[in-house]
Amino acid sequence: MKGFAMLRIGSVGWIEKERPACGPLDAIVTPIAVSPCTSDVHTVWEGAIGDRHNMILGHEAVGEVVEVGSLVKDFKPGDKVIVSAITPDWSSLEAQAGYPMHSGGMLAGWKFSNFKDGVFGEYFHVNDADGNLAMLPEGMDLGAAAMVCDMMPTGFHGAELADVQYGDDVCVIGIGPVGLMGVAAAALRGAANLYAVGSRRNCCELAKEYGATETISYKDGDIVEQIMELTHNNGVDKIIIAGGNVDTIDQAIRMLKPGGTIGSVNYLGSGDYVRIPRVEWGSGMSHKKIHCGLMPGGRLRSEKLAKLISTGRVDPGRLITHRFTGFDHMEESLMLMKDKPADLIKPLVII
Ligand code: NDP
Ligand code: ZN
Repeated sequence: MKGFAMLRIGSVGWIEKERPACGPLDAIVTPIAVSPCTSDVHTVWEGAIGDRHNMILGHEAVGEVVEVGSLVKDFKPGDKVIVSAITPDWSSLEAQAGYPMHSGGMLAGWKFSNFKDGVFGEYFHVNDADGNLAMLPEGMDLGAAAMVCDMMPTGFHGAELADVQYGDDVCVIGIGPVGLMGVAAAALRGAANLYAVGSRRNCCELAKEYGATETISYKDGDIVEQIMELTHNNGVDKIIIAGGNVDTIDQAIRMLKPGGTIGSVNYLGSGDYVRIPRVEWGSGMSHKKIHCGLMPGGRLRSEKLAKLISTGRVDPGRLITHRFTGFDHMEESLMLMKDKPADLIKPLVII
Protein backbone atom coordinates (compact mmCIF):
# COMPACT_ATOMS: atom_id res chain seq x y z
CA MET A 1 0.00 0.00 0.00
CA LYS A 2 1.13 3.61 -0.37
CA GLY A 3 1.30 6.20 2.38
CA PHE A 4 2.43 9.76 2.89
CA ALA A 5 5.26 9.67 5.40
CA MET A 6 7.85 11.47 7.45
CA LEU A 7 11.09 10.21 5.86
CA ARG A 8 13.28 11.84 8.52
CA ILE A 9 13.30 15.17 10.41
CA GLY A 10 12.48 17.91 7.91
CA SER A 11 11.57 15.58 5.05
CA VAL A 12 8.28 14.04 3.85
CA GLY A 13 7.23 11.95 0.83
CA TRP A 14 5.26 9.00 -0.53
CA ILE A 15 6.41 5.51 0.43
CA GLU A 16 5.30 1.90 -0.13
CA LYS A 17 4.65 -0.31 2.90
CA GLU A 18 3.11 -3.65 3.82
CA ARG A 19 -0.56 -3.41 4.71
CA PRO A 20 -0.77 -3.66 8.56
CA ALA A 21 -1.87 -6.92 10.19
CA CYS A 22 -4.96 -7.17 12.40
CA GLY A 23 -4.70 -8.62 15.94
CA PRO A 24 -7.70 -10.10 17.81
CA LEU A 25 -8.79 -6.79 19.41
CA ASP A 26 -7.88 -4.57 16.45
CA ALA A 27 -9.36 -3.19 13.26
CA ILE A 28 -7.92 -2.29 9.87
CA VAL A 29 -9.49 0.85 8.46
CA THR A 30 -9.25 2.60 5.11
CA PRO A 31 -9.57 6.40 5.26
CA ILE A 32 -12.55 8.28 3.78
CA ALA A 33 -11.53 11.76 4.96
CA VAL A 34 -8.36 12.91 6.69
CA SER A 35 -6.90 16.14 8.00
CA PRO A 36 -3.30 17.10 8.82
CA CYS A 37 -2.55 18.52 12.26
CA THR A 38 -0.18 21.19 13.55
CA SER A 39 1.29 18.34 15.62
CA ASP A 40 2.45 16.66 12.38
CA VAL A 41 4.27 19.91 11.63
CA HIS A 42 5.98 19.97 15.09
CA THR A 43 6.91 16.31 14.59
CA VAL A 44 8.39 16.63 11.10
CA TRP A 45 9.91 20.11 10.97
CA GLU A 46 10.82 20.68 14.62
CA GLY A 47 11.75 17.05 15.34
CA ALA A 48 9.82 17.56 18.56
CA ILE A 49 9.48 13.86 19.45
CA GLY A 50 12.83 12.84 17.98
CA ASP A 51 13.64 11.35 14.61
CA ARG A 52 11.30 8.98 12.81
CA HIS A 53 12.12 7.11 9.61
CA ASN A 54 9.53 6.30 6.93
CA MET A 55 6.65 6.68 9.39
CA ILE A 56 3.28 7.34 7.76
CA LEU A 57 1.88 10.62 9.08
CA GLY A 58 -1.59 11.69 10.17
CA HIS A 59 -3.89 10.95 13.10
CA GLU A 60 -7.20 12.50 12.10
CA ALA A 61 -9.40 10.21 10.01
CA VAL A 62 -12.93 9.17 9.31
CA GLY A 63 -12.79 5.79 7.62
CA GLU A 64 -14.39 2.50 6.68
CA VAL A 65 -13.60 -0.68 8.57
CA VAL A 66 -12.17 -3.35 6.26
CA GLU A 67 -11.23 -6.01 8.80
CA VAL A 68 -11.75 -6.69 12.51
CA GLY A 69 -10.09 -9.12 14.93
CA SER A 70 -11.91 -12.14 16.34
CA LEU A 71 -12.56 -10.46 19.73
CA VAL A 72 -13.99 -7.17 18.39
CA LYS A 73 -17.66 -7.00 19.41
CA ASP A 74 -19.20 -3.76 18.14
CA PHE A 75 -17.69 -3.09 14.70
CA LYS A 76 -17.62 -5.01 11.43
CA PRO A 77 -16.26 -4.54 7.92
CA GLY A 78 -18.20 -1.86 6.05
CA ASP A 79 -18.90 0.28 9.16
CA LYS A 80 -18.10 3.97 8.71
CA VAL A 81 -16.20 5.19 11.75
CA ILE A 82 -14.65 8.20 13.43
CA VAL A 83 -11.16 7.24 14.62
CA SER A 84 -9.83 8.92 17.74
CA ALA A 85 -6.38 10.50 17.24
CA ILE A 86 -5.36 9.09 20.63
CA THR A 87 -5.96 5.35 20.86
CA PRO A 88 -5.19 4.18 24.42
CA ASP A 89 -4.81 0.61 25.58
CA TRP A 90 -7.90 0.64 27.74
CA SER A 91 -6.82 -2.29 29.89
CA SER A 92 -3.60 -0.54 30.97
CA LEU A 93 -3.03 0.59 34.55
CA GLU A 94 -2.64 4.19 33.37
CA ALA A 95 -6.09 4.08 31.74
CA GLN A 96 -7.53 2.56 34.91
CA ALA A 97 -5.93 5.39 36.89
CA GLY A 98 -7.77 7.94 34.70
CA TYR A 99 -4.96 8.80 32.29
CA PRO A 100 -5.65 6.73 29.16
CA MET A 101 -3.59 9.09 27.00
CA HIS A 102 -0.50 7.94 28.91
CA SER A 103 -1.30 4.23 28.68
CA GLY A 104 2.01 2.40 28.44
CA GLY A 105 4.10 5.47 29.33
CA MET A 106 4.23 9.23 28.84
CA LEU A 107 2.09 10.21 25.81
CA ALA A 108 2.02 6.55 24.71
CA GLY A 109 -1.75 6.58 24.06
CA TRP A 110 -0.77 8.73 21.08
CA LYS A 111 0.27 6.02 18.66
CA PHE A 112 -0.60 7.22 15.14
CA SER A 113 2.28 9.14 13.60
CA ASN A 114 4.25 8.79 16.82
CA PHE A 115 4.96 5.10 17.62
CA LYS A 116 3.34 3.56 14.56
CA ASP A 117 2.13 4.46 11.09
CA GLY A 118 -0.60 7.05 10.98
CA VAL A 119 -3.76 7.42 8.93
CA PHE A 120 -2.32 8.92 5.71
CA GLY A 121 -1.99 5.43 4.23
CA GLU A 122 -4.34 3.34 2.14
CA TYR A 123 -4.95 1.25 5.27
CA PHE A 124 -4.17 1.80 8.91
CA HIS A 125 -4.26 -0.24 12.10
CA VAL A 126 -6.43 0.65 15.12
CA ASN A 127 -5.64 -1.03 18.46
CA ASP A 128 -8.46 -1.75 20.93
CA ALA A 129 -11.08 -1.16 18.22
CA ASP A 130 -14.12 -1.36 20.52
CA GLY A 131 -12.61 1.34 22.73
CA ASN A 132 -11.19 3.63 20.09
CA LEU A 133 -13.63 3.70 17.15
CA ALA A 134 -16.97 5.49 17.11
CA MET A 135 -19.74 4.92 14.58
CA LEU A 136 -20.03 7.83 12.11
CA PRO A 137 -23.54 9.24 12.67
CA GLU A 138 -25.78 8.92 9.59
CA GLY A 139 -25.63 12.04 7.42
CA MET A 140 -22.91 13.82 9.41
CA ASP A 141 -20.73 16.14 7.31
CA LEU A 142 -17.31 14.53 6.87
CA GLY A 143 -15.53 17.77 7.76
CA ALA A 144 -17.38 18.08 11.07
CA ALA A 145 -16.86 14.37 11.78
CA ALA A 146 -13.12 14.60 11.09
CA MET A 147 -12.86 17.34 13.72
CA VAL A 148 -14.10 14.85 16.33
CA CYS A 149 -10.82 12.94 15.96
CA ASP A 150 -8.58 15.62 17.45
CA MET A 151 -9.52 19.31 17.18
CA MET A 152 -12.74 19.10 19.15
CA PRO A 153 -11.57 16.69 21.88
CA THR A 154 -8.35 18.66 22.35
CA GLY A 155 -9.98 22.09 22.53
CA PHE A 156 -12.64 20.69 24.86
CA HIS A 157 -9.95 19.07 26.99
CA GLY A 158 -8.39 22.53 27.34
CA ALA A 159 -11.66 23.74 28.88
CA GLU A 160 -11.80 20.67 31.13
CA LEU A 161 -8.20 21.15 32.26
CA ALA A 162 -8.86 24.85 32.93
CA ASP A 163 -11.97 23.81 34.87
CA VAL A 164 -14.13 26.50 33.28
CA GLN A 165 -17.23 27.17 35.40
CA TYR A 166 -20.36 29.35 34.95
CA GLY A 167 -19.54 33.03 35.15
CA ASP A 168 -15.77 32.62 34.86
CA ASP A 169 -13.78 35.19 32.93
CA VAL A 170 -11.72 33.11 30.53
CA CYS A 171 -8.85 33.78 28.15
CA VAL A 172 -8.07 31.38 25.30
CA ILE A 173 -4.50 31.91 24.07
CA GLY A 174 -4.19 30.65 20.50
CA ILE A 175 -7.23 30.37 18.25
CA GLY A 176 -6.21 28.03 15.49
CA PRO A 177 -8.61 25.08 15.15
CA VAL A 178 -7.76 23.72 18.62
CA GLY A 179 -8.16 27.04 20.41
CA LEU A 180 -11.38 27.78 18.51
CA MET A 181 -12.78 24.55 19.90
CA GLY A 182 -11.52 25.71 23.30
CA VAL A 183 -13.56 28.88 22.83
CA ALA A 184 -16.66 26.87 21.89
CA ALA A 185 -16.17 24.58 24.91
CA ALA A 186 -15.64 27.49 27.33
CA ALA A 187 -18.82 29.14 26.01
CA LEU A 188 -20.78 25.88 26.46
CA ARG A 189 -19.46 25.59 30.02
CA GLY A 190 -20.75 29.06 30.86
CA ALA A 191 -17.81 31.46 30.52
CA ALA A 192 -18.79 35.10 31.06
CA ASN A 193 -16.14 37.35 29.50
CA LEU A 194 -14.36 35.19 26.97
CA TYR A 195 -11.18 36.69 25.52
CA ALA A 196 -9.52 35.05 22.53
CA VAL A 197 -5.90 35.67 21.53
CA GLY A 198 -4.86 35.27 17.88
CA SER A 199 -3.99 37.39 14.89
CA ARG A 200 -5.54 35.82 11.77
CA ARG A 201 -8.72 37.68 10.85
CA ASN A 202 -10.80 34.62 9.93
CA CYS A 203 -9.84 32.93 13.22
CA CYS A 204 -10.85 36.05 15.18
CA GLU A 205 -14.17 36.21 13.35
CA LEU A 206 -14.91 32.55 13.97
CA ALA A 207 -13.88 32.91 17.63
CA LYS A 208 -16.61 35.54 18.00
CA GLU A 209 -19.13 33.20 16.39
CA TYR A 210 -18.11 30.38 18.76
CA GLY A 211 -18.69 32.70 21.73
CA ALA A 212 -15.66 34.96 22.29
CA THR A 213 -16.69 38.35 23.66
CA GLU A 214 -13.43 40.04 22.62
CA THR A 215 -10.41 39.14 20.50
CA ILE A 216 -6.91 40.53 20.96
CA SER A 217 -3.72 40.05 18.96
CA TYR A 218 -0.33 39.14 20.39
CA LYS A 219 1.07 41.15 17.49
CA ASP A 220 -0.44 44.36 18.93
CA GLY A 221 1.72 44.27 22.08
CA ASP A 222 2.05 42.30 25.32
CA ILE A 223 -1.08 40.16 25.80
CA VAL A 224 -0.71 40.40 29.58
CA GLU A 225 -1.04 44.19 29.43
CA GLN A 226 -3.98 43.90 27.05
CA ILE A 227 -5.85 41.43 29.26
CA MET A 228 -5.09 43.38 32.45
CA GLU A 229 -6.47 46.52 30.83
CA LEU A 230 -9.62 44.74 29.65
CA THR A 231 -10.19 43.23 33.12
CA HIS A 232 -9.45 46.48 35.03
CA ASN A 233 -6.31 44.87 36.44
CA ASN A 234 -8.18 41.88 37.89
CA GLY A 235 -6.96 39.23 35.45
CA VAL A 236 -8.99 36.19 34.45
CA ASP A 237 -10.26 33.15 36.35
CA LYS A 238 -9.31 30.52 33.80
CA ILE A 239 -6.95 30.28 30.82
CA ILE A 240 -6.86 27.79 27.98
CA ILE A 241 -3.54 27.65 26.11
CA ALA A 242 -3.73 26.33 22.55
CA GLY A 243 -0.89 28.20 20.89
CA GLY A 244 2.23 30.24 21.59
CA ASN A 245 5.55 28.95 22.90
CA VAL A 246 7.52 28.25 26.09
CA ASP A 247 6.97 31.86 27.22
CA THR A 248 3.19 31.58 27.05
CA ILE A 249 2.80 29.91 30.45
CA ASP A 250 4.78 32.77 32.00
CA GLN A 251 2.33 35.23 30.40
CA ALA A 252 -0.66 33.14 31.48
CA ILE A 253 0.45 33.14 35.12
CA ARG A 254 0.78 36.92 35.03
CA MET A 255 -2.80 37.41 33.82
CA LEU A 256 -4.38 34.75 36.07
CA LYS A 257 -6.22 35.57 39.31
CA PRO A 258 -4.99 33.90 42.52
CA GLY A 259 -6.58 30.45 42.70
CA GLY A 260 -7.08 30.43 38.93
CA THR A 261 -6.38 27.53 36.61
CA ILE A 262 -4.48 27.21 33.35
CA GLY A 263 -5.46 24.36 31.04
CA SER A 264 -2.76 23.91 28.41
CA VAL A 265 -3.05 21.56 25.43
CA ASN A 266 -0.28 23.26 23.48
CA TYR A 267 2.42 20.96 22.03
CA LEU A 268 5.71 22.69 22.84
CA GLY A 269 7.81 21.77 19.84
CA SER A 270 10.94 23.64 20.87
CA GLY A 271 12.65 25.40 23.78
CA ASP A 272 14.06 23.72 26.89
CA TYR A 273 12.32 25.29 29.86
CA VAL A 274 9.01 26.78 30.88
CA ARG A 275 9.47 29.68 33.30
CA ILE A 276 7.23 30.64 36.19
CA PRO A 277 7.38 34.30 37.31
CA ARG A 278 8.04 34.26 41.06
CA VAL A 279 6.13 37.38 42.14
CA GLU A 280 2.99 36.66 40.08
CA TRP A 281 3.26 33.08 41.37
CA GLY A 282 2.59 34.59 44.80
CA SER A 283 6.20 33.79 45.76
CA GLY A 284 5.06 30.18 45.55
CA MET A 285 1.77 30.68 47.42
CA SER A 286 -0.69 31.83 44.74
CA HIS A 287 -2.90 28.72 44.45
CA LYS A 288 -2.52 29.17 40.71
CA LYS A 289 -2.73 25.79 38.98
CA ILE A 290 -1.22 24.59 35.70
CA HIS A 291 -2.92 21.56 34.17
CA CYS A 292 -1.45 20.42 30.90
CA GLY A 293 -2.49 17.45 28.86
CA LEU A 294 -2.73 15.34 25.79
CA MET A 295 -6.34 14.76 24.83
CA PRO A 296 -7.80 11.57 26.32
CA GLY A 297 -9.09 9.77 23.21
CA GLY A 298 -11.54 6.91 23.09
CA ARG A 299 -14.96 5.99 21.83
CA LEU A 300 -17.21 7.41 24.57
CA ARG A 301 -15.66 10.84 24.20
CA SER A 302 -15.95 10.73 20.38
CA GLU A 303 -19.61 9.69 20.64
CA LYS A 304 -20.41 12.45 23.14
CA LEU A 305 -18.69 15.10 21.02
CA ALA A 306 -20.44 13.82 17.89
CA LYS A 307 -23.75 14.21 19.78
CA LEU A 308 -22.94 17.88 20.38
CA ILE A 309 -22.72 18.22 16.59
CA SER A 310 -25.90 16.21 15.88
CA THR A 311 -27.86 18.29 18.39
CA GLY A 312 -26.61 21.54 16.86
CA ARG A 313 -24.69 22.72 19.94
CA VAL A 314 -21.38 23.10 18.08
CA ASP A 315 -20.44 22.97 14.41
CA PRO A 316 -16.71 22.16 14.11
CA GLY A 317 -17.21 21.81 10.34
CA ARG A 318 -16.82 25.59 10.24
CA LEU A 319 -13.11 25.12 10.93
CA ILE A 320 -12.63 23.63 7.45
CA THR A 321 -11.45 26.37 5.12
CA HIS A 322 -9.85 24.17 2.43
CA ARG A 323 -11.41 20.98 1.01
CA PHE A 324 -9.56 18.69 -1.38
CA THR A 325 -10.64 15.49 -3.09
CA GLY A 326 -8.13 12.69 -3.66
CA PHE A 327 -5.29 10.98 -1.80
CA ASP A 328 -2.77 12.93 -3.86
CA HIS A 329 -3.65 16.18 -2.05
CA MET A 330 -2.20 14.94 1.23
CA GLU A 331 1.10 16.74 0.73
CA GLU A 332 -0.56 20.01 -0.31
CA SER A 333 -2.81 19.95 2.74
CA LEU A 334 0.11 19.23 5.12
CA MET A 335 2.09 22.08 3.57
CA LEU A 336 -0.86 24.41 4.16
CA MET A 337 -0.79 23.41 7.82
CA LYS A 338 2.94 24.13 7.91
CA ASP A 339 2.80 27.50 6.13
CA LYS A 340 -0.47 28.70 7.71
CA PRO A 341 -1.61 31.16 5.02
CA ALA A 342 -3.87 33.90 6.36
CA ASP A 343 -7.06 32.30 5.02
CA LEU A 344 -6.37 28.84 6.51
CA ILE A 345 -7.91 27.38 9.60
CA LYS A 346 -8.02 23.66 8.78
CA PRO A 347 -7.81 21.64 5.54
CA LEU A 348 -9.70 18.42 4.81
CA VAL A 349 -8.84 15.76 2.23
CA ILE A 350 -11.72 13.57 1.10
CA ILE A 351 -10.32 10.36 -0.32
P1 NDP B 1 -2.40 26.79 15.00
O1 NDP B 1 -0.98 26.99 14.64
O2 NDP B 1 -3.40 26.74 13.89
O3 NDP B 1 -2.86 27.92 16.00
C1 NDP B 1 -1.99 28.48 16.94
C2 NDP B 1 -2.61 29.72 17.50
O4 NDP B 1 -1.67 30.35 18.39
C3 NDP B 1 -2.94 30.79 16.45
O5 NDP B 1 -4.10 31.47 16.83
C4 NDP B 1 -1.75 31.73 16.52
O6 NDP B 1 -2.06 33.02 16.08
C5 NDP B 1 -1.49 31.71 18.03
N1 NDP B 1 -0.16 32.11 18.40
C6 NDP B 1 1.01 31.92 17.72
N2 NDP B 1 2.04 32.47 18.39
C7 NDP B 1 1.52 33.06 19.49
C8 NDP B 1 2.07 33.79 20.56
N3 NDP B 1 3.39 34.04 20.64
N4 NDP B 1 1.25 34.21 21.53
C9 NDP B 1 -0.07 33.95 21.49
N5 NDP B 1 -0.67 33.26 20.48
C10 NDP B 1 0.13 32.82 19.50
O7 NDP B 1 -2.45 25.46 15.87
P2 NDP B 1 -3.61 24.41 16.17
O8 NDP B 1 -4.83 25.10 16.61
O9 NDP B 1 -3.72 23.46 15.03
O10 NDP B 1 -2.95 23.61 17.38
C11 NDP B 1 -2.65 24.28 18.59
C12 NDP B 1 -1.65 23.48 19.41
O11 NDP B 1 -2.28 22.30 19.92
C13 NDP B 1 -0.47 22.98 18.58
O12 NDP B 1 0.71 23.12 19.36
C14 NDP B 1 -0.78 21.53 18.37
O13 NDP B 1 0.36 20.76 18.11
C15 NDP B 1 -1.42 21.21 19.70
N6 NDP B 1 -2.21 19.98 19.76
C16 NDP B 1 -2.25 19.35 20.96
C17 NDP B 1 -3.00 18.23 21.14
C18 NDP B 1 -3.16 17.62 22.49
O14 NDP B 1 -3.73 16.53 22.61
N7 NDP B 1 -2.70 18.25 23.56
C19 NDP B 1 -3.72 17.62 20.02
C20 NDP B 1 -3.70 18.42 18.81
C21 NDP B 1 -2.95 19.54 18.69
P3 NDP B 1 -2.16 33.45 14.52
O15 NDP B 1 -3.58 33.89 14.34
O16 NDP B 1 -1.17 34.53 14.36
O17 NDP B 1 -1.83 32.24 13.70
ZN1 ZN C 1 -3.28 16.33 16.21
